[in-house]
Amino acid sequence: MSDFGFDLGRRLHEREQANLRRELTPAKAVAPQTRFADDPKAGDVAFGEQKVVFGANNYLGLANDDRVKRATERAARTVGTGAGASRLVTGDTGVHRALERDLADCKETERALVFSSGYAANIGTITALDPDVVFSDAHNHASIIDGCRLADAETVVYDHCDAEALRSQMAERADTANDSEAWLVVTDSVFSMGGDVAPIEAICDAAADYGAWLLVDEAHATGIFDDGGGIVQREGLSDRVDIQLGTLSKALASQGGYVAGDGPLIEFLLNTARSFVFSTGLAPPSAAAARRALEIARTGDKRTQLWQNVETLREGLEAMGYTIRGETHILPVMLGDRETAMAVGDRLEAAGIAAPPIRPPTVPVGTSRIRVAPMATHTSADLARCLDAFERAGEEAGVL
Ligand code: PMP
Repeated sequence: MSDFGFDLGRRLHEREQANLRRELTPAKAVAPQTRFADDPKAGDVAFGEQKVVFGANNYLGLANDDRVKRATERAARTVGTGAGASRLVTGDTGVHRALERDLADCKETERALVFSSGYAANIGTITALDPDVVFSDAHNHASIIDGCRLADAETVVYDHCDAEALRSQMAERADTANDSEAWLVVTDSVFSMGGDVAPIEAICDAAADYGAWLLVDEAHATGIFDDGGGIVQREGLSDRVDIQLGTLSKALASQGGYVAGDGPLIEFLLNTARSFVFSTGLAPPSAAAARRALEIARTGDKRTQLWQNVETLREGLEAMGYTIRGETHILPVMLGDRETAMAVGDRLEAAGIAAPPIRPPTVPVGTSRIRVAPMATHTSADLARCLDAFERAGEEAGVL
């Protein structure tokens, strides 16, 4: 008898052997301090000790802000808990339109369009544009990589954050190009695992020299830099970046993604981006949450609090002798090999700090790290506990 089924047990075992098996760890709340449980599989969740969370992208701590919660509740009560259909059918609401107006204002563009996730925004936008060639930074997010694959585009990967490398790849490719080709350059602005920032202006220059379009993914920058806009606004480049894209799920404490750009771009995407057309509209409470969070991010003091916490942690960790990469609110504490990162991570966990180690294949071999993500709502006691835990963990693991 033939067996044309799927041997998932074997596949999982192979992942385990390759150190690629992942586990879920349910949290009691999305908050600076919370309790976690081991994956209960199908059983009941049993939460353990309270931990301080330094691994979340809820950078401004707005996921449990009362003002954001009230906006979410209001939208659920007055509009509905779900959009009920694609935006193109009956799922388009005033809450979506208000959020899109605010995003366009923040991003200094004509219009914006929200998707049900940042992932959906990337794959939908790249496939809809249907580029012949994509020039993509070597460290770009998986949703960009998947967008390129799905678009079946020729993808040229250029060295990370290296505008000169991009330029020479474009020069080389231009030799065999024909006049009807369309080129797209894609980069994250803030890289989530390295905390570093793409040289957007130099990338704009390179793209402009070849008439290529530029898409910048501001997932980790929206709500945080400049007036909440991101790196593109900080550098004064809104009129030079064709497509500003990001997520509502990090500093904006919600769910969903967005694209901001000129009118024809948005009109084209809402007609052709399959992850927009054939997917239910973003849930109205999520749209309302993101809108309120964007307003708070732009007008309140959360950003100042975040930067103060970032500075305290960066200075404290560097004073101990740790190497911290990057120049942003994401602090990658570099530890080298996988085993060292695991040893430090285990000790941090035992000391009540939730900041999981990041290791290959997520990052290159020899650059395992703990990604410390401070939040605006961490207290000085939280920061002190984190620094103490790092000091002890580093000494015990022999890295300090
Ligand atoms: N782009 C980048 C750079 C990201 O880091 C992420 C999320 N980790 C996404 C896109 C996807 O966003 P979402 O989680 O909203 O799907």
